[in-house]
Formats: sequence, structure tokens, C-alpha cells
Amino acid sequence: MLPKSFSHSSLGTYRNCPRQFKFQYIEKPVVRRKISPQAFLGMAVHKALSQLYKMGADGVVWPENDVVEFYAKEWDKVDLESLVLPSDYYTVDDYIRIGREALVRHYHKYKPFKHGVLIGAELSLQFTLPGTQFIIRTIIDRLSKKDDGSLEICDYKTGQHMLRTHDLDFRYQMGLYLLSVQASYPQFNDIDLVQIYLRQDEEVACRMSPDELDELTEQVRLTLAAIVAAERNDNFPPTESALCAYCSYEELCPARRHRFTMEVLEKEDSDGSTPEEKAAEKAEAMIGVHLKIKELEAEKRLLKEDLIELARELDVSKIFAKSGRVDVRIGQEEKLITRTVDQKAHADLNALVGGWEGMDPFFELNGNEFMKKVYLAGRLTDEQRDQLEEYIKRGERAVVTPRPSRKRFDSE
Ligand code: SF4
Repeated sequence: MLPKSFSHSSLGTYRNCPRQFKFQYIEKPVVRRKISPQAFLGMAVHKALSQLYKMGADGVVWPENDVVEFYAKEWDKVDLESLVLPSDYYTVDDYIRIGREALVRHYHKYKPFKHGVLIGAELSLQFTLPGTQFIIRTIIDRLSKKDDGSLEICDYKTGQHMLRTHDLDFRYQMGLYLLSVQASYPQFNDIDLVQIYLRQDEEVACRMSPDELDELTEQVRLTLAAIVAAERNDNFPPTESALCAYCSYEELCPARRHRFTMEVLEKEDSDGSTPEEKAAEKAEAMIGVHLKIKELEAEKRLLKEDLIELARELDVSKIFAKSGRVDVRIGQEEKLITRTVDQKAHADLNALVGGWEGMDPFFELNGNEFMKKVYLAGRLTDEQRDQLEEYIKRGERAVVTPRPSRKRFDSE
């Protein structure tokens, strides 16, 4: 069953990999959670900042050493086995240090952490997506009322990649946050959206217009409609990417499971009788056949070139062999320019032919058909032929057809 509500994160999971969405939000199998050190760094920093700003709102400045100690203790809670390091060069200690440095930098820049009136830190909100029945939940890192009476929605970022305000990810996340704040606090009209990048010590801020919000709402509605259709048809295909390394369901995933099972069977020195091993054998044979076909196709291409050359040299159109013959037809051909060769010229050609009298208003040029049934069939006026001239490519065309003799097969 589909979840009762969605979030920026669950919608993002569906967009990245529908199968992971199904695992995480529908099937919910019990698995050992995998976590990236960047994600854990983010969680630890967010917890420290939430506490820092809650105290700051009451006029209490949490001492720097205590903040750093709180942050370090969060790392004590991590299950090191579940951490997946993305690089051989970064250790867990590097991630702890990166987070600590970012936190300290933020501390010195924003002390005493009284940014207007704090409405909420790690604030959970929800709203019904306009025009739908879907509930969207958001968790806002910090919502404040500034001195000029406007609101500020603030989201902390601890990653290496800094978004720009026109990036889809920025608009998706901050737009959903804005919709949830508007639904919960309708008395505010002016609302700023800010992402604070702690590693870069930068702020990215903007406001979104009602038109932009309508556009976002439509995009989210379409994603939700796609999820409903996927559930109805049980169609959640796996989409592999670099993110698979951090996916907790990798060993269950249809795109990865067989490889894991084979690794286990290999270690166990299995006798090759399991369905997985039989499948691997067939896959091996299939790859062999595929490679052989590729090789033969390459050989056939070379033979074709040689035969054309020889037919030209001997001035013959049929070359005989013991087991049959090969026909070699060399002639001139006229072809209309294709989209792949020149997109603009093809569009102009389409417009030209589409504008001729008697053409279907939804005319879409099919070059080969047009050449065969209209141009070569002599159905054009002289003027039309002249207009087409610049879109016609002329060149040699050679057709090589092997004709094995019947006898050869009969005797076999
Ligand atoms: S392992 Fe990759 S493809 Fe499979 S569910 Fe996870 S993210 Fe998707």
C-alpha cells in the first residue's frame, strides 16, 4: 500500500530509483541500514544546530566547547559497520573533522544565534497538495520571524555540492517547504527561502512567485500521479546509479541480487546446480553468442567492402562461388536529408513539404516513404522538385546479397 503521506525525500527517492521507493515506503523489508558518512555528518550537525538555535532564541548562548562535544558524542552513536565510505582517501575521522570545522565556522559567524523570533527548529509541518488529496510532510531546519515582519525558512546543507536558486533540487525542496509554511501560517505574505552551506560558508537565498509555486505544484502532482500508476501496475523498475552503493536494499534489488547470490555461492564452493548458477551459465553462453555475432558482423562488413571493390574492378554484378553466388548491385541513389544529419535543414524541409497544398495539417515527413511514393513516383510539379533540390543528397549505393545455392542445403 502506498504511504499516506509524502515528503521531499520520498519523492526524491522515487525520482532517483522507483524500486528503492518501493522497498523503503511500501515493502519495508527488515535490512541492515547502510548510511553514508556525509549523511551522518549532516544529521549530527543538524542536531547540534537545532539545539543551538533553540537556546539562542531564549537568549542563552551554548558554549562552543559544549556544542563541539555534543557533536562528537553524536558520532559515538554511529554503527561503524553500516557506514559506507565513498572514497579510499577519506576516513571516518576526516568526516568528523569536516563537520566539526563547519560547525565551528558557523558558530563564530552567527553567534549569538538570535535570528529574529524563532518559530521552530526541526519543525514538522504538513499540508495537502493543492488540487489533490495527497499529504506532504516537511521538516524545516529553522523557521524565524525577522524584525521586518517577514518569515525566513532556513535549511542547512553540509554537502560539497552547492545548489543555485534555479536548480530543480533547490526549487523542489524549498518550494515544498514554502507551501507547508504558507498552509500553516497563512497570515505571512513575505517569506524568504535560505539554504546555508556550512562547508562553503555561503548562503543561497530567494523568494518564489505564485506562478513558480503553481509550476512546482504541477510537477509534484505529476510525480504523485506516476507513483499511483506505478503502484497500480506494480511497475517500480530499479534505476542503477552511484547511489546504489548507499542503498540499504542492494542485496534484495532485482538489478543487483543475482551478483550477490553468486558471490556467496562462489565462496561456498557450490556444485553449480542452483537456479542462480544455471542462470549464470545461460548468461555466459548468451554473451558468447552475442560476441560471436558481433565478430561475424564485422567480418561480413569487410567482405562486403571487398566484394564491392572486386565487382567494380571486374565490372560484374554477380560473383560466383562453389556454394552459390553473391549479387552486387551498384547504383546511384537520391535521399532526403535526415534529422540526424542536419536538424535545422530537416525542420525546414518538413515545413516546406508540410506547406504544400493538399497536405495533412499534422504532416510529419517520412523521408523514405516520401521519396518512394511521391518524389520517385513523379507526383511533384517542376517547381516543387526545384524547391526540394537543396534537401536532396545524391550518392552511390551498393547492395550486396549472398545467394546460397539450393543444392548446397539439399545435399546437407
Ligand atoms: S540498489 Fe540501486 S537500483 Fe537497486 S533499489 Fe537500490 S538504488 Fe535502486
